[in-house]
Amino acid sequence: MNKKHVTLIKGDGIGPEITEAVLKIIASSEEYLRKNNIQEDEIEFEEAVVGEKLYNQNILSGIDEKAWEIIKKNPVMLKAPITTPTGGGYKSLNVTVRKMLGLFANVRPSISYYPIIENSPKKMDLVVIRENEEDIYSGIEYRQTNGAFTSLKLLTKEGSLKICHFAFEYARANGRKKVTCMIKDNIMKIADGMFYNAFLEVAKNYPDIESERYIIDIGSARIAARPEVFDVIVTENLYGDIISDIASEISGSVGLAGSANIGSKYSMFEAIHGSAPLMAGKQTANPSAFLNGAILMLRHMGMNKKAELIENAFFKTIEDGVHTKDIFREGGASKQKVGTMEFADEIIKRFGEKSLILKKNQDSYQNSNGYIMKEFDKSLYKDFLFEENLKKELIGFDFFIDSRGISISKFGNEIQSLIENSEFKDKISLSSIMFKGLKVWPSDGDLISDFNETYDYWMLRFLIDESLIKNSISENLILINEFHKKLISEEFDVFKIENLYNFISKDSGEKSYQGFSAGQGE
Ligand code: NAD
Repeated sequence: MNKKHVTLIKGDGIGPEITEAVLKIIASSEEYLRKNNIQEDEIEFEEAVVGEKLYNQNILSGIDEKAWEIIKKNPVMLKAPITTPTGGGYKSLNVTVRKMLGLFANVRPSISYYPIIENSPKKMDLVVIRENEEDIYSGIEYRQTNGAFTSLKLLTKEGSLKICHFAFEYARANGRKKVTCMIKDNIMKIADGMFYNAFLEVAKNYPDIESERYIIDIGSARIAARPEVFDVIVTENLYGDIISDIASEISGSVGLAGSANIGSKYSMFEAIHGSAPLMAGKQTANPSAFLNGAILMLRHMGMNKKAELIENAFFKTIEDGVHTKDIFREGGASKQKVGTMEFADEIIKRFGEKSLILKKNQDSYQNSNGYIMKEFDKSLYKDFLFEENLKKELIGFDFFIDSRGISISKFGNEIQSLIENSEFKDKISLSSIMFKGLKVWPSDGDLISDFNETYDYWMLRFLIDESLIKNSISENLILINEFHKKLISEEFDVFKIENLYNFISKDSGEKSYQGFSAGQGE
């Protein structure tokens, strides 16, 4: 019998009490197997202290060297929820850990608890596969003016391919039939459009698995109303965060679903919910989500005997009507309301018993190592990833200018005449001024009456004269730089510059793709 080391994070809020419950269940399951002469590796937990305790010492990252040392040493981690203080420069430790350990895939299964939890859907066995490192979780945010605040949504081809590849591999390894991609490419045509194209690229290699797409808004509504139509869902970070909470909540409670965070070297297992600080210390939290995270971990580590034993006893406890407050319903299948640790004890009492109802409802955990990521082979997608014959052409630039209470037509005319009377005449032209992506200059009439009173986030789109477009990118960047200096000398507060590129693909017969979105009305 070997001991396998696992990093343990006890978390904040309800973290310590759900951890205590889950550790007791795992330790008792090992004792049960030992007593019954059933051989299986055992776990030795090594605690790393992170989160609130460190935030309170003014360590804004919530983690220190000592904790990192333990985390990096052990490939597997069991982590209870951690509180992220709001505002004030604190970074989410959850996001930091996922990124530092390369945990790019977040696997979140949700199943039906019907008829025990009466309002749980009759049929539901879906797995949300959420991209875990990109999107607005990059945490790149700015305040540039009095009134405007921005978050950067960053998607990469590699990140998108990798998660879609993972989803199809997961589907195949677990005998699942369909992968649904959820995006918002009707609005974010460039970023979400690329994610969907990556999905299509990957889907080609899995003709045995059905693939389909939903726009995220109707997709979320459909999960809430008809979850049985879904099997595996692959999506971006934020959408995945939201729809997995919806899926878990409609299955009975956010206190039910566990989650696996998988990378090529490390993995981390947790509950989908947070640290619920208001419930802390009351012994009312449901430890099931964290327990389901731990069951995913046991399967991941090949400890299937413990996983089966615990899962059967867990389902049997729920079937017997022993429920924590969040799923307890008077007059229904609920018979006994229990606290966090009592629930754990009831599970332990049922070791060796078989679940008769709930286990039959689902098959999502059946494959023991279905979600272990094989090394992602980039060469499979090299044409999509590298587009070797792609040429970039710099055709213009957007200047973002902080200006409050301006008259748009005066603003436009002023900048236009500044160009006309300078060395930039015949080189640069002001093509439009945009208000939240809507073109408001040049305009035939008043589009909005009062938007310029407080609005201070103006985007001015400039085009480089056609005769100069064939210049090298650096020549045109110098031109932009010179023009930038000119506007600064005229005391314009240019707080951000975006270059406008066209991408020309030689492989598709010199076809040109616009690398920026057009304004509404442009
Ligand atoms: P939350 O998930 O902690 O709680 C929301 C509500 O869900 C609670 O008020 C409670 O009614 C219910 N709930 C959650 N867990 C439950 C359980 N085990 N049993 C019964 N009911 C449960 O979300 P929040 O209040 O938005 O976030 C609290 C803190 O947790 C924040 O600091 C947030 O940043 C953090 N958080 C951490 C993680 C993580 O560690 N992975 C995930 C999400 C949020």
